[in-house]
Amino acid sequence: MNHQNVDHVENISDVTNTIFLGLGSNLDDPINQIEQAIDSLSAFVQSIRRAPLYRSKPLGPQDQPDFVNTVIQGQTGLAPNDLLDRTQQIETSQGRIKTMHWGPRTIDIDILYFENLRFMSPTLTIPHQEILNRSFVVIPLLDLLPNQMTPTGDRIERNRYDASTLVRIDT
Ligand code: ADP
Ligand code: MG
Repeated sequence: MNHQNVDHVENISDVTNTIFLGLGSNLDDPINQIEQAIDSLSAFVQSIRRAPLYRSKPLGPQDQPDFVNTVIQGQTGLAPNDLLDRTQQIETSQGRIKTMHWGPRTIDIDILYFENLRFMSPTLTIPHQEILNRSFVVIPLLDLLPNQMTPTGDRIERNRYDASTLVRIDT
């Protein structure tokens, strides 16, 4: 007789999806903020691959510290809205206080891609709307993408982006 228990059956049917997250910080030891966020993300994102860290000048208001950015790839069993909830909890727990748009922040976690999903609601747009407008997202993203192909099937032209605005940080 086969004594498969329910947990085991649920594990077999567990679906995980490939996600790409963008991380950025420019306050309170940014590199450490990013390390701490990745550590927290690992509770619900498995098989994490990380791009290098990059330093960049802030967008918008210039009277704030430089940013450190990276992109990670991983697998999650969470649904998109639950993933957003959990990433926002991490932002809050690391002391992110919403001030102005493009203002300084301890940690920003953006959902860039969720498999090849295209989704739009008042609180969540996937793929993230600004990916292709931000070299500090595109450059680390390209470090993780084979053949410059995004999960939604678009090819990113690397030479359209000015990587000179970014400084790769060796850690
Ligand atoms: P930004 O990342 O553009 O600087 P915020 O981090 O302040 O802006 O995000 C503002 C809102 O963007 C969040 O409250 C969230 O509901 C929404 N949002 C929409 N799509 C996404 C996404 N793909 N990833 C993260 N947040 C998103
Ligand atoms: Mg954000």
